[in-house]
Amino acid sequence: MIDRDKLYQYARDIGVELDDNMLSRFRLYASELITTNKKYNLTAITEPDEVVVKHFIDSLNVLKYFDLDYGNKIIDIGSGAGFPALPLLIAKNGMLEVTFVDSVRKKLLFIERALNVCGLKGEILHERAEELGQDKDYRESYDVATARAVAPLNVLCELCMPFVKVGGYFIALKGSSDEVTDAKRAIKQLGGKIESNVSYKLPNGDPRSIVIIKKISQTPTKYPRKYKIISSKPL
Ligand code: SAM
Repeated sequence: MIDRDKLYQYARDIGVELDDNMLSRFRLYASELITTNKKYNLTAITEPDEVVVKHFIDSLNVLKYFDLDYGNKIIDIGSGAGFPALPLLIAKNGMLEVTFVDSVRKKLLFIERALNVCGLKGEILHERAEELGQDKDYRESYDVATARAVAPLNVLCELCMPFVKVGGYFIALKGSSDEVTDAKRAIKQLGGKIESNVSYKLPNGDPRSIVIIKKISQTPTKYPRKYKIISSKPL
């Protein structure tokens, strides 16, 4: 079981106020994650204190650096066990329209269960981002795209930026290394502009960074390309 007080305090330290209802939802989510992980490998992080810090607080740091508005349409690419979008949905009291995308079905089945136990709603898509990004129903139709731990930033931008409306944002949660320098060309070609790139530390001292990219013009229709090309010849 996760320590509610720790989660409450760590979230407060980054300016995120969690009420009792939200704390209960985080508890249910953690318990579903830890139980399911015994059967299916969803994440390497399953020790309750680590779930709080490395999954929940890491995800919630988005709210320290970016104002998500109630009703925002968000697409989370390579959600895995739901990070960062599910913690964001909980902290915004369910008042975001979230689409979770992953290419692995068992991860989406887990997200579906986690949403159910928390009494939350979201769209769950078993798709590859580079294919979905060419679908006109999804392309350039989100206020925000998020991704954590999916691919190097230059590759990730091509997977995520096609989903963002002009005027919207792509938010990438990263480790400590500087990936922005290598991604500058990709960001420009995909219609983006770096809004900010901030480094911070998790409560356990682990370094992290958040890169926020604003979409300033439409992404050319040739992007995203096939994954083989995106990864072998990143922009
Ligand atoms: N975002 C989660 C997190 O931070 O815990 C999961 C990270 S996990 C290392 C990467 C996830 O991205 C995996 O669940 C994988 O299936 C998914 N993924 C990788 N490439 C993808 C693609 N092209 N389209 C959709 N999902 C992808």
